[in-house]
Parts: sequence; C-alpha cells; structure tokens
Amino acid sequence: MKILITAGPTREAIDPVRYLSNRSSGKMGYAIAAAALKRGHEVVLISGPVAIDAPEGAAVVNVVSAGEMLTAVQERIGEGIDAAIFCAAVADYRPVALATQKIKKDDSGHLTLTLEKTEDILGSVRSQMAYQGLLVGFAAETHDLEKHARQKLSSKKCDLLVANRVGNPGAGFDADENELQLFFADGHAESLECQPKTVLGEKLIEIIEKLGEAKT
Ligand code: C5P
Repeated sequence: MKILITAGPTREAIDPVRYLSNRSSGKMGYAIAAAALKRGHEVVLISGPVAIDAPEGAAVVNVVSAGEMLTAVQERIGEGIDAAIFCAAVADYRPVALATQKIKKDDSGHLTLTLEKTEDILGSVRSQMAYQGLLVGFAAETHDLEKHARQKLSSKKCDLLVANRVGNPGAGFDADENELQLFFADGHAESLECQPKTVLGEKLIEIIEKLGEAKT
C-alpha cells in the first residue's frame, strides 16, 4: 500500500518569536510510519516540528503550521494513496493576525489574542479532496472518550477512529507508551492495552492491512 501519515504538533505563529502549539511528540505517528515501512509499504510522512528522527525510507514532508499541513495533504493525497492516517495533533485555532514585530509588554496586566479556527484537514479529505481510500483518524480526549470518538468517526467519514485518553501521566502525549481504543465504521470497537508506541504502530498497521483487504 501507499500510506500517507500526518504526525506531530503544528505551530501557529503569534509574532516572530512566539507560537501556539501542544505537547505532541510525534512518536505515535513515527512508530506507525516505521511499522508500515517494515511491512514493505510506501510511506509519505507529513510532519510538524518534532525532536525525533524520521524512519529511514519514508518520504518526509516537513511543515510547521496547520495551513502548511493542509497544503501538503492536498498536494499528496491524490497520488494514489491507499490509506491515510491522520495522527497529527493539529492546532484547532491560530491567531487571526500575525504581529510583524515582537509583541511588547505594557502596563495593562492583560493581553488578548483573537484566534480563528484552522482548517479541519481530516474532515476535508473526503468532502473536498475526493479521497476514497482508507481513512484513519485519531482523537485525544480527556473526557467522554467514546462519545467524542464515535462522533468524529462518522462526521469525518473515517473507516477507523483511534482514541486515547490524555491527561494521565505515563501514556498518551509525549510518552513512549499509549493505551488505545479503536472504533470501526461498522460499529464494533476494540481495545489495545497500554504498551510501547512502537508495538502499537505494528498492531495498527496489521489492522489497517486487514481493512484494506476487506475493502478490495
Ligand atoms: O483535534 P481533534 O481531536 O478533532 O482531531 C481529530 C482528528 O482530526 C485527528 O486525526 C487529527 O489529526 C485531525 N485533525 C486535522 N485537522 C485539524 C484538527 C484535527 O486533520 N485542524
């Protein structure tokens, strides 16, 4: 298969030296990319800024902001992609205006930033990019995990939605291990217990291969 993977956080600039971002390390997406390459798949890895090395053999597209990630996905999704896995922690909002100079402190005690929604990349691949391959989304949730995951599965027209609980130490964001709950388009669900992201990457690729076989 030819697999497109988004990974890592995005950074939304506030001024020339500051940005809004999140704690995503990119480890989950990179582990999926490594597992896919090991199984002989071709990988396009669209990555936000991370501190880890990309697996050898991946075609890496480095991006910084949600807008750049959207452009990279638009450019690559039409290239015969069989499975697209949206693992990136894309910022939901960005500053409306980018200050051209460093914002200075004043005496008011407050600073108000006005934010606007970023593009929903995963939510636009079927509706706006006419993508018809396998679609896998991720959801990091602090509460009502199943409800939010099932909503995302159907609203973004995914074949599989992979959810994990964040906010607990040791698993999830910026950790080496993760515990996942999988929600499939046919309604069934599966759990993958807390284990290294490298192992989870391999298990997810096996599951995605099976979904691919069932679809053809
Ligand atoms: O942020 P949220 O939990 O809604 O993310 C769910 C899924 O949507 C993830 O797979 C994420 O990569 C994707 N996403 C995206 N573009 C956004 C926000 C999220 O592709 N602007």
